[in-house]
Amino acid sequence: MTHTSTDVTRDPLAFIADEIADLKAKHLYRPLRVMSAAQGPVTTVDGREVISLSSNDYLGLTHHPRLREAALAAVRDFGVGSGAVRTIAGTMTVHEALESDLAKFKHSEAVLTFQSGFTANTGVIPTITGEADLIVSDALNHASIIDGMRLSKAPRKVFPHKDVDALGAILREAAVHGRDDGSGPYRSILVVTDGVFSMDGDIAPLPGIVEAAESYGAAVFVDDAHASGVLGKAGRGSVSHFGLEGRVQVQVGTLSKAVGVLGGYVAGSQALRDLLIQRARPFLFSTSHPPAVAAACREAIKVMQDEPWLIERLWASTARFKAELARLGFDTGRSETPITPIIVGDPDAAIRFSNRLFEEGVFATSVVYPTVPMDQSRLRTIVTAALTDEHLDRALETFDRVGRELGIIAG
Ligand code: PMP
Repeated sequence: MTHTSTDVTRDPLAFIADEIADLKAKHLYRPLRVMSAAQGPVTTVDGREVISLSSNDYLGLTHHPRLREAALAAVRDFGVGSGAVRTIAGTMTVHEALESDLAKFKHSEAVLTFQSGFTANTGVIPTITGEADLIVSDALNHASIIDGMRLSKAPRKVFPHKDVDALGAILREAAVHGRDDGSGPYRSILVVTDGVFSMDGDIAPLPGIVEAAESYGAAVFVDDAHASGVLGKAGRGSVSHFGLEGRVQVQVGTLSKAVGVLGGYVAGSQALRDLLIQRARPFLFSTSHPPAVAAACREAIKVMQDEPWLIERLWASTARFKAELARLGFDTGRSETPITPIIVGDPDAAIRFSNRLFEEGVFATSVVYPTVPMDQSRLRTIVTAALTDEHLDRALETFDRVGRELGIIAG
């Protein structure tokens, strides 16, 4: 068969430029801002020195001297790369030591690390669920949970955000009637929730979720990305925060936010770890962490226990920052954690607010559709333990001045 060409001059990927133009026309196109200094309470972004309220560096560990030293020592001793996936030749003593430290820290039987929190979710969910199972998910779960569910063969049901009664109703129906196609009971049911929701900073109603799950024999999976290092004793996460140790079967954590480095992990049973090593695709098919990453993470877990004042400072600053923003007339939504949204509504207004703050030396990123609903555009600020009272006061004074100038709060 001969191919008849139509228009050979046409770029077959021309739609990409069209999509970009469309995003720009809708003011939804977000250029990257570039940091030319270390992460920290004050950093340099696009050449400007700014107070940073935009990182997930809750405890200031990204630049902690003990973590830097641990990373440097690992580079000297083990080089810069692991050279293979974990299942071939990429498992080093430091990877296993980190997992053993994390298991002790989390009071769980076993831990397996992944390259990121994202890959932990996309690796674990399809491994532990299949056609015969059901996944029940909070409506506002993170993108990586959603992708993990898409990669699973299991059917899924979504309950309205934090609605434990609706969750109970889904579980009851699933337990009584079994699979939707009438082919019998589910092999297992997995309830999946973020521990702390990343856009609004609210905490999952874990006690109610666990109770509902226990009533119907379901397992609970908590993604503690924003709770790791923030909630619970020494930052052990939402399960520790609510005193639910031993009652949540799968805990995912991240090493990329409060822990200050990079990575994700799954804490659970030894059998879970053993199965993930055999089956979880990012674990099997993507190279393991450089030794410096694993060594710095090990040191971070020690620092979190040796320096309890970091978490105390994080929560004290969070309380003060939120109270002051409310006093100034800003709407900080339903946050219960250092994630402090400042709801503006209109996407253009949110972007303008963020840009003006940036010109005035305060880095507070805007978050707009599709990450949040169109009328919920916002600045998303995160308080960190590294910010001093003086930094926070300067930021608050700038929010007040620019907020009035742009009519976001009453002048
Ligand atoms: N889960 C949640 C709830 C998150 O907020 C994030 C990060 N935005 C992740 C997972 C992914 O974590 P990581 O950055 O380690 O890939």
